[in-house]
Amino acid sequence: MADTIFQKIIDREIPADIVFEDDHCLAFRDVSPQAPTHVLVIPKKPVESIDQLANEDAELLGHLWIVIRNLAQELKLADGYRVVVNCGADGGQTVDHLHFHLLGGRALSWPPG
Ligand code: AMP
Repeated sequence: MADTIFQKIIDREIPADIVFEDDHCLAFRDVSPQAPTHVLVIPKKPVESIDQLANEDAELLGHLWIVIRNLAQELKLADGYRVVVNCGADGGQTVDHLHFHLLGGRALSWPPG
């Protein structure tokens, strides 16, 4: 897997507005926010997409969800929020490093485009 822009953020080769980090993941503000709060949560393990997840990634995924829950509380998204994972071309994925969009701070419409 070639280095993506997110791998460069993990490696501190390019800057990002990091809001959380631990041994397994990194969370930073999206450079093109689609809501008042728009944070990306990514595993440090270089997984390209949902399609590339291995069965042994189950624990990592559980951890990411707990981090997302904690971030939603810390970022005061008490009125609700949305978590989106785009996968592949039809899913609208543009960066080939698995990432969870955490969006909130306004009422979000449904269905997505
Ligand atoms: P996706 O379209 O689901 O692959 O989402 C990729 C997201 O990464 C988009 O929302 C972009 O705005 C965001 N993005 C791209 N480059 C950066 C960057 N350098 N820092 C923060 N967010 C970025």
